[in-house]
Amino acid sequence: MPVLDTAALLHWPVERLLGGIVAHSQLEELRRLSPQRAMLIESIELEWMSMGTGDAESAAANTGDLPRLSPVDLEILALALGTGQKLYTDDYSLQNVCRSLNHPFESVSNKKSKQQWSWELRCIGCRASKKADSQEEQECDICGSPMKVKRSRK
Ligand SMILES: [Zn+2]
Repeated sequence: MPVLDTAALLHWPVERLLGGIVAHSQLEELRRLSPQRAMLIESIELEWMSMGTGDAESAAANTGDLPRLSPVDLEILALALGTGQKLYTDDYSLQNVCRSLNHPFESVSNKKSKQQWSWELRCIGCRASKKADSQEEQECDICGSPMKVKRSRK
């Protein structure tokens, strides 16, 4: 049974959701987004789980996606990694982390991102670039201009 992110819980027909693995924290998120949908989701058969997010966090730190992932995202990722099940998500950062680990994933809406990418800092002055290990913008070592975070294709 796959792990389902909140987009799936919101948009998929109930029959498709049955038996899916979901994180407890998603219910809170769902209640905020759509109280009616949350009530429906609570009434159907799903596998509610919680798991430590340590491995998920370090995997996301490796690809540079950690600052883009919410606590709920990390929990969903932890469930996918912990259970070894396919993750359904439209979140490009979650997909990026899965791809880096060769973990199976699928998009909720069939728009799968095709390429692996990494985040890099690029200088707006001399265009020098280096790997971004956080989302903090810094000054260029070479010319002192600001460096902006950019997504770079591999
Ligand atoms: Zn520069």
